Amino acid sequence: MITRITGGKIVTASSEIYADLWIKDEQILKIGEADFIADMVIDATGKYIMPGGIDPHVHMHLPTPAGFSSDDFRSGSIAGLHGGTTTLIDFVTPEHGQSLIDALDKRKNEAVNSLVDYTFHVSPIEWTENTASEIEACMKAGITSFKVYMAYKKAVGLEDDALYNVLKTVGELGGMVTVHAEMGDEIDLLRDEFAAKGILSPTAHPQTRPNYTEGDAVKKVIEMAAENNCPLYIVHVSTAEAMSHIQLAQKNGQKVWAETCPHYLVLDDSVYEGEFADTAKYVLSPPLRKHKDSEALWQSLKSESVQTVGTDHCPFTLEQKRAGEHDFRKIPNGAGGVEHRIALLYTYGVLEGKITLSQMVNMMATAPAKIFGLDKKGDLREGLDADILIWDPNTEQEISVATHHQNTDLNIYEGINTKGATAHVFVKGQEVIRYGELIEKPKGEFIERY
Ligand code: MN
Ligand code: MN
Repeated sequence: MITRITGGKIVTASSEIYADLWIKDEQILKIGEADFIADMVIDATGKYIMPGGIDPHVHMHLPTPAGFSSDDFRSGSIAGLHGGTTTLIDFVTPEHGQSLIDALDKRKNEAVNSLVDYTFHVSPIEWTENTASEIEACMKAGITSFKVYMAYKKAVGLEDDALYNVLKTVGELGGMVTVHAEMGDEIDLLRDEFAAKGILSPTAHPQTRPNYTEGDAVKKVIEMAAENNCPLYIVHVSTAEAMSHIQLAQKNGQKVWAETCPHYLVLDDSVYEGEFADTAKYVLSPPLRKHKDSEALWQSLKSESVQTVGTDHCPFTLEQKRAGEHDFRKIPNGAGGVEHRIALLYTYGVLEGKITLSQMVNMMATAPAKIFGLDKKGDLREGLDADILIWDPNTEQEISVATHHQNTDLNIYEGINTKGATAHVFVKGQEVIRYGELIEKPKGEFIERY
C-alpha cells in the first residue's frame, strides 16, 4: 500500500519545504519527487505536514484514592489522536512492595487497548535491597527513563537518601531520571497549616505550593544529579525560579532537560477564586502560576532551554473531584489536556509569534523522541514510522466538554478559542483521523527503548 501526500508544506524541527511525502505500508518511503504508483493520494494543499505528536507525560487509568483517572488508554489515545498526538509516554507506578518489573508487566496489560504506540517512565517509589537490580531489569526490558517524585511523600514520593540512590544507579546504568520537583515536606506542612486554620477550599491549593517550593526542589535535584552524573529531565516546570536554576545548569554543561505543560502557558492562578464546582478542576500540581511565570516559560521555549511540552494529562470527573469538597487535600490532582496540546501551542505560541512552527514541531514531537530514545518516531525521514499529522491552519474551534473526546465532564480550557486543527492523522501509515472523524482503530504497541 503506497500513499502519496501532495501539495502541502512539510514542516520538521529543522526545515519547512514544499514536497511530496510517500508512505509505504507502515513507514515513510520518500520525501520528494518519485514515480511510485500511489494507492491513495491525499491533497494537502494549504496544510502543514508534520510528525505526529509525542506526548511525553500522560497518566491514563491512574489509580488514586478517588478512583482511576477518567481516561483509560483507549479513550485517552482517541482524544490524543483527535488533537494530532500519535505516541504516548505514560508511567509505571508500583505498589509498595511490588517489584518494578512486575509493575511494568501489569501496566503493559493495562495499555493494550491504546490505539497509538506507547512506552513508560518507571517509578521507583521506595529503595530496597532489590531496587538497583529491578532498575537494571527494566532497562533490559526496553525502559530507559525512571520517574521520581519529591512531593506526595505519603504515597509515591522519595526521601533524599532513596532519591540519591536512584540517581546514582540510573546514572551508572546509562539511563535518565525524570523528576516531579516540589519540596514535599514543606508543602505537606503548609497544607496542614491551612487546614488547621479552616481554609479548606481549592483557594488553598496554590497558596500551599508557592513558587519557591518548586524552585528549591529543582535546585536541589539538579545538584544531586550532578553529583551522581545522572542525566535529568524535569517534568512540568511551572515557575520562573525553576527556570533560572535549569538555565544555569545547562549553561554549565550539565545534562538537564525541561518540560512544561500547556496549562502553565495559557492559564494563571486567578482561576482558584470561586465555588468548588468551578475551581476544583484546576487542582493540579504544581498549581497554575502568575502571568510572569507563563512569560518566562514562553521565553524558555523560544530559547530552547525548555525542550518539550507534555500535557500531564490526568483527567477526573467533577464527581471524583468532590472527594475533596470539604478538604482540598483530598481533591485528586490533575486535569485532561492530551487533546489540546498542539492546538494551544499553535494558537498561542506560533500565531502569537512566541515560537516558530519548526520549534513547535520540535517541542511536541522531535525533542521528546530524541530525549527518550524513540528512534522510529518524531521526525519525517525515510524509514521512520509514518506517524503523520496533517494540520489545517484555516479552522477555528472553541474548546468545550460538549465537543472534546476526553472522558470527563471537566475541561480546564473550557471556552478558549484555538486556531488550526487536525485534517488527517496517520498512525504507522494508516489514516486514522479524517476531518474530525475517527475512521480506523489501530492497535498501539509497546515501544522498547534502549
Ligand atoms: Mn507531577
Ligand atoms: Mn504527572
